[in-house]
Amino acid sequence: MPAPRVYRTEALVLRGMDLGEADRLLTLFTPRLGKLRALARGVRRPKSKLGGHLDVLCHSDLMLARGRNLDTITGAQARHGFPALRGDLLALGQALYVLELVDLFTAEGMENYSLFQLTLTTLERLPDAGGGETPLRYFELRLLEATGYRPQLYNCHVCRRPLEPQDNYFSPSGGVICPSCQAQEPFSHPLSLGVLKVLRHYLRAGYEEARGVRLTPSQARELKLVLGECLRYHGERDSRAGAFLERVKGLPSQG
Ligand SMILES: [Zn+2]
Repeated sequence: MPAPRVYRTEALVLRGMDLGEADRLLTLFTPRLGKLRALARGVRRPKSKLGGHLDVLCHSDLMLARGRNLDTITGAQARHGFPALRGDLLALGQALYVLELVDLFTAEGMENYSLFQLTLTTLERLPDAGGGETPLRYFELRLLEATGYRPQLYNCHVCRRPLEPQDNYFSPSGGVICPSCQAQEPFSHPLSLGVLKVLRHYLRAGYEEARGVRLTPSQARELKLVLGECLRYHGERDSRAGAFLERVKGLPSQG
């Protein structure tokens, strides 16, 4: 039996690109169909019934019609537009960075339900964090886990021996390396015991527990560096939204 011509899904709009006079090509992330690209015809016309339901960051219920090359969105109803994010430039920059990472780490048509849920909850957490970066670090590590790139945190990535409770080394390709093996990994660098414990805690604990951990400024920098290296290594290219976020943080604050 052929697949039905029309189907429904909820979706988070990751990205949009204007096409022609009034159309937009959207990159969507869905709970059961993974990432998919679809065409929103006429969405840029002022009276389009799709308007406002398909902006980047919208979480919407969609109706789609299968096409030979590309599916077309025939109906859309926003569930959640994350208004708290849109009114806060720093949180908005963080949210776009999250969407960029999701786009980078997912392939079209590959279901990843846990990553879909993680992404939605992360977007809800951002405005409450007041610009703090704990939701981002927690997301980054959980994203690596959900996409099969969880760094090795308990045994040396090279010799597989259990790690001693001491300062070790870290390689973005696989995780923690013991001091004896460090010379074999030219791109490794020191990793403090404190940050190793934070990484382990973030993977074990729920978010509420994870955000209770107080980091020193140097631990926060180290954690950001370690996770950023893993994301760059596995994401193959620098995140454009990451660069955007750095620019937003460099802006003078209002008032
Ligand atoms: Zn080793």
